[in-house]
This record gives sequence, structure tokens and C-alpha cells, in this order.
Amino acid sequence: MSENINPSENSTQKSLNFIEQIVVEDLAKGKNDGRLQTRFPPEPNGYLHIGHAKAICMDFGIAQKFGGVCNLRLDDTNPQKEDTEYVEAIKEDIQWLGFKWGNIYHASDYFQQLWDFAVSLIKQGKAYIDEQTSEEIAQQKGTPTQPGTDSPFRNRPIEESLALFEKMNSGEVPEGAMVLRAKIDMSSPNMHFRDPIIYRVINKEHHITGNKWKAYPMYDFAHGQSDFFEGVTHSICTLEFVPHRPLYDYFIDELKEGKDLEDHRPRQYEFNRLNLTHTLMSKRKLLALVEEGLVDGWDDPRMPTICGLRRRGYSPEAIRKFVDMIGYTKIEAINEYSMLEAAAREDLNARALRVSAVLDPVKLIITNYPEGQTEEMETINNPENENDGTHTITFSRELWMERADFMEDAPKKFFRMVPGKEVRLKSAYIVKCTGCKKDENGNVVEVYAEYDPQSKSGMEGANRKVKGTLHWVSANHCVKAEVRLYNPLFTVENPAADERDFRELLNPESLQVLKECYVEPFAVKNDTGNRYLQFQRTGYFTLDSHSTTEAPVFNRTVNLKDSFAKK
Ligand code: ATP
Ligand code: MG
Repeated sequence: MSENINPSENSTQKSLNFIEQIVVEDLAKGKNDGRLQTRFPPEPNGYLHIGHAKAICMDFGIAQKFGGVCNLRLDDTNPQKEDTEYVEAIKEDIQWLGFKWGNIYHASDYFQQLWDFAVSLIKQGKAYIDEQTSEEIAQQKGTPTQPGTDSPFRNRPIEESLALFEKMNSGEVPEGAMVLRAKIDMSSPNMHFRDPIIYRVINKEHHITGNKWKAYPMYDFAHGQSDFFEGVTHSICTLEFVPHRPLYDYFIDELKEGKDLEDHRPRQYEFNRLNLTHTLMSKRKLLALVEEGLVDGWDDPRMPTICGLRRRGYSPEAIRKFVDMIGYTKIEAINEYSMLEAAAREDLNARALRVSAVLDPVKLIITNYPEGQTEEMETINNPENENDGTHTITFSRELWMERADFMEDAPKKFFRMVPGKEVRLKSAYIVKCTGCKKDENGNVVEVYAEYDPQSKSGMEGANRKVKGTLHWVSANHCVKAEVRLYNPLFTVENPAADERDFRELLNPESLQVLKECYVEPFAVKNDTGNRYLQFQRTGYFTLDSHSTTEAPVFNRTVNLKDSFAKK
């Protein structure tokens, strides 16, 4: 599967991003014996989102591109929030995006090795048990310009720390009563070196190791070491970990115990996180939306999660295209949601099957068409791809058309259904509108037209000039469906930066449900295996994965044109 690119080939060099360039140089120098190994390290405490997709495309993509391997590592060092449900969802989403891992590892695979390493640091006087509260420890940290203060426990006897560390893991010590800290430098300009906490007590069952451990390593004490144990060469993460990098290197230096690795060691590289307007990427907040019932689960089509986008009707290719469009840099920024939509539109234009669906129906009666007669009209599935073939749609006397496509008194440029004017019914006939019927409130309840039998699409000479072409479905040959239209989940551009609670920023109009829509049967059941649809003239849609044959529901993926740009 992996496509090898010769690192010395200059022609490919130009289009490489800065991390790819580093990889190419390292491979050329023969670092790590010419091996390339990356990892994607999610914490299984939530579902993956579009930001993770950016990291996945980097971690897996770079390994694939340069003949390396990317492993999946579940960063399960905090049993409080982690769950196997999330592990399964993470695996599904990575595969759906089109990537394959080499192995699956867990940070918990290394709990024993990490414990042993911590014990060895204590024995060397390089770690100690601190019995202060987290507030006290925080107060002593100092500021970047002011040195911190030593903990009163900093110089306690090694034996005491060893005994207490055992106790931390025995279940006797309540959470927060003590922590293990690395003894490094309380006046380091890098705050992460001011005796970082490396172990804490969590009295909760772990989804894999059960009750074996009560003392759990912190991220900084687990991540780099896990990379080292696995033989990761390039540990790629996001920019907020830049200040952690010296500590990452420090623990690996301690771990190698004086051995000269000759640069056979993992190195951390950072790129900019993905931030998107009108949405959030924090798993904690996304979880709150789910738990508080503010959305319809992790896969609510308004969610920025991979499963939400999938349910919404995004293809994996659209997501990868988007990641490609935004690229990788070293500068934090926020990307427009409309870019994600543009990627979807471009992808769906090439892939979607064109179908007829009427979202706001009004009856159209072709008064001169024989009652009881029907015709099967052939329509092209996808003008962008001949191989997608054709299907037929039934034409008859009674049709549904869009309410907005009729006007009694229309302005000149309204090339739709207007009394006395002609329009083409897509894939069928040219009809001339003859009037309408209204109820007592003046609402149009039926529109009338006469068809020209000589104007059938594809007929010799049928193509006389009519300006408008309208979509329709046959009233007795269609399926009633619910259609859900989506708008941005948040009203403000950057809810993460807003001082108000994110719940207050939810868009009350993020979901609009149309209960009575009519779609041609092909939209509900087509045998092509293609789930991506374009409702002609309306937008891109897909059948909701929770919908049933009896009560079909469609989600609008994206409309045909950019609506953000108009505002
Ligand atoms: P949260 O803080 O919301 O829990 P996280 O960043 O800690 O999210 P992880 O599961 O630890 O989530 O992330 C796994 C990998 O995905 C990490 O390497 C992380 O850098 C990357 N990642 C997470 N969010 C983004 C994002 N918005 N853009 C790019 N990469 C991301
Ligand atoms: Mg994390």
C-alpha cells in the first residue's frame, strides 16, 4: 500500500510540508537506521473530531508516503474518563478515513516499565513523594520570571519516598494526598522543569488493567517513554506541546542511562492545531453537549466529530481534501468552516447521484395528461461521471413541485412556474402554467399546467427555448421523508475564545426539520452502493444512518452554494 518516494528526488521536495522535509532529511542521513515510525496517540476519553483528522492525516499519511509505519497508541493513563466505547469508535473512524495502523499499543502496556523507571529515579534521588496539596504545589511553582520554591518534602530520605510510592499504588492513599515529583530544577526558565508531577493516585478501575494500579503516570511521564519503548522515530503532535519538548528529551535521556543512542531516539515535532469557526474541538465540551442532551449524541450531524461528519454525509475523501487545503504550519490560526464545506462541495459534485426531492411541496396537476397514465423517464445519475449510469423516474398527471417555484404575479426574471409561461419539468416535458387554486386564506393549494406531448426530453426537436427547468416527483410514485437542514452549531465565530459559557452560544436554529418532503424512490433505495446524493437544485444530502425504511430521514450535508460568503 505504501508508496515509496525517493528522498533525493528534488521534484517532490517542493510540495513537502515542513515535517515531511524533516523526515526526508532524516531518512537521507540514515537516522534511526533509516526507519520511519510514527504513532497516533488519542486518549480514549471521547470521539475523534475533525482536529484529530488533521493529526491522523499527518501521522498515518507521512508513514504511508515515505514507507514507514504508524501505530495506534491509546493514551490511557487516566481511568477516570476512559472507556472501551471510545476505543472502538476511534478504531472505526481511523479506518473509515482510509488509514491502517501497524500495531495497536496502549500506554497502559507500559505501566510496569514506567513504574520501574520511576522507582529507579527515586533511588537515584531524582524523584520524591510530595504530600502537599495541588494548590500548595501550584503556589510554589513561581512564574516564568520568578523561581519557584522548594517543597518541604523535596529532600526527604529516598527510603521514605520508596515506601510511600508503594503505598500510593496500594489503595491506602486517598486521591490527592500525595504525588510523585521529578526532582529537576525549581528555578528553570521552563516551568515544566520545576519538579513536574509524574505520578498521581486515581482510585478507579482501569478499562484494561482493572485494579492492578492505583498510581498512574502523568502525560509527560508516559508519552515520550512510550515512544521510546515502541521505537517511534518521529513523534508528531500539536504546538501546545512545544514547551514540553525539553522534558520529553530529558526523560528519554534518563531512560537510556548513559547509553549513546547515536540519534536513535524519538524526536518530537509540532504543527498547528486545527481550529474551526462556529464550532468547538474540546472533547470535554463536546462530551458535555452529548451528556446534557444538547445534541443527538456524538454523531449528531452538527458535531465536528468524524462520526458526526460521516452521518452528515461527508466522505472520507472530502475530509482529507480539506486537511490538504489547510496544510500544516507552525502558526496557530482559526480556519473558516466554509472551507470544510467547500471541500465537501467539490468532492460531492464529483460523486453524488442526482435525484429529485421536493422539500416544500405543492401539488402540480397536468390537466391535459391522461388520468391513470404513467411514463418512465430516464435521468442521468451523475453528469460528472458517465459510469454512474442512469435511472428512471415516474411521470404522471399529479406531481409535487416546490412551493417557491410558483408565483402568480412574478417579476420578469422569475423563470419558473407563472401563469401563461412555459417551463421544462426536468427529464420530462415542457409545460405551460394555466393557473392555481387557493384556500380561503389565499394560500396556493394546487397549481395547474398543460403539457406539450411533443416536448419530451430527448425527443427530436423537443428542445425549444424555455428558460427554467424545475424538479418534481410524481405524487403517487414517491416516498414521504423527513429532511433535516443544519446550520452552524454556534452563533459566534470562536466559541472557545468567548467568555460566556459555550452553552449560551449554541445556535437555536442549528437544526431545522422539514416533516413533509417527497423524494423519488431511487433516493431511498438505490443499488449503486453510493450513499451520496444531490437533491437537484437544493443541495447535497444523505440518508440518515438512524433512519428506517418506514420513516426515511435525510440530512443536508451542505447546500449547493456558499451561504457563509453571502453574509
Ligand atoms: P482534548 O484536550 O480536547 O481532550 P486532546 O488534544 O488532548 O483533546 P488527544 O486524544 O490527546 O486529544 O489527541 C490525540 C492527538 O490528536 C494528539 O496528537 C493531538 O495533538 C491531536 N489533536 C487533537 N486535537 C487536535 C486539533 N484540533 N488539531 C490537530 N490535532 C489535534
Ligand atoms: Mg490529550
